[in-house]
Amino acid sequence: MLSLHGVVKDFPGAILPAVDNVHINLYPGELLGLLGPSGCGKTTLLRLIAGFEQPQAGRIFLADREIACPNCNLPPERRGVGMVFQDYALFPHLTVAQNIAFGLKQQKGWRRSGLQQRVLEVMTLASLEGLHKRYPHELSGGQQQRVALARALAPNPSLILLDEPLSNLDVQVRLRLRQELRTILKKAGTSAVLVTHDQEEALSVCDRVAVMRQGRVEQIATPQDLYDQPATRFVAEFVTQANFIPAQRLLQSWKTEFGTIYLAEPGVDLEDGVDLMLRQEDLRLELDPQGIAVVRDRQFLGREQRYSLVTESGLELVARVALSQTLEVGDRVAVTFDPQVVKVFRRN
Ligand code: ADP
Ligand code: MG
Repeated sequence: MLSLHGVVKDFPGAILPAVDNVHINLYPGELLGLLGPSGCGKTTLLRLIAGFEQPQAGRIFLADREIACPNCNLPPERRGVGMVFQDYALFPHLTVAQNIAFGLKQQKGWRRSGLQQRVLEVMTLASLEGLHKRYPHELSGGQQQRVALARALAPNPSLILLDEPLSNLDVQVRLRLRQELRTILKKAGTSAVLVTHDQEEALSVCDRVAVMRQGRVEQIATPQDLYDQPATRFVAEFVTQANFIPAQRLLQSWKTEFGTIYLAEPGVDLEDGVDLMLRQEDLRLELDPQGIAVVRDRQFLGREQRYSLVTESGLELVARVALSQTLEVGDRVAVTFDPQVVKVFRRN
């Protein structure tokens, strides 16, 4: 569907390329997330796919047609790609229906009745029934973003690119629109690339997620695989917000602040100093006056809770546990975990 081969984008004066040797293949109908911290190159990658930037190296194919390379660049309007931005970018002087019809009017061959029919179709798809005469300023943020999505979907593009489409919305609207966004895109059957810096959003909405760091894709996988098999420490840290415990290699085991640990898979070719990854839900806490850590803070999460802890060496840990466990700030606790769940990473 969409295929990127070794794509590089370098801005003059920058130390590192904004996009560095990126390879991505998108399946038809797939919803792919681009996830990474601010400045890692997500928007630049989207602009390369849209045609607003041209790569210095590599090639981009859309449905088997080469659309970009260092000396070829199909203009954005001829790529058949729809875009949705963080700030909605609706035309303020046009109604909802006129906004949605706008892109269709640029296409040849639409009769008036067909055009109106299509506007109604995508309005229904995006749950915008009855709003066609409203102006953007008469809509809520969530409605405005659904109009932007309907406008992008109306011409039936083969691909939709969404750059942080939910980040201007209030948290409640954002959470609801997350699921709606996925439902609408799946119903439309359009392939899509969704840029976000919010790991929860990427994992809950997308079929697969590419985790980016400094212009590179560190891992591209399903949400489940990213969670279960992070390829690098960065992915583990960014995606699961896991704990990392320094460890020294002994002959058959690892020495840590929590005692000596025997691992099922010791990670043979790693150096002496590594970090052991433990997810927030992997830690077990028990009130113990001789325990290794002290409770610093408690965060209520509804069905569970999160304790921030600090160990004797100053290591900070986060544990997510059941509400039935009642610990107070200042309590001393023993921290245990099942060695089976530990993953070993080279220290950054
Ligand atoms: P993200 O969307 O992940 O926050 P961007 O793609 O916007 O990241 O930016 C990636 C890097 O490229 C940043 O270091 C940014 O400063 C740089 N950059 C982006 N656009 C330009 C530009 N037009 N000129 C120069 N540098 C740019
Ligand atoms: Mg951006």
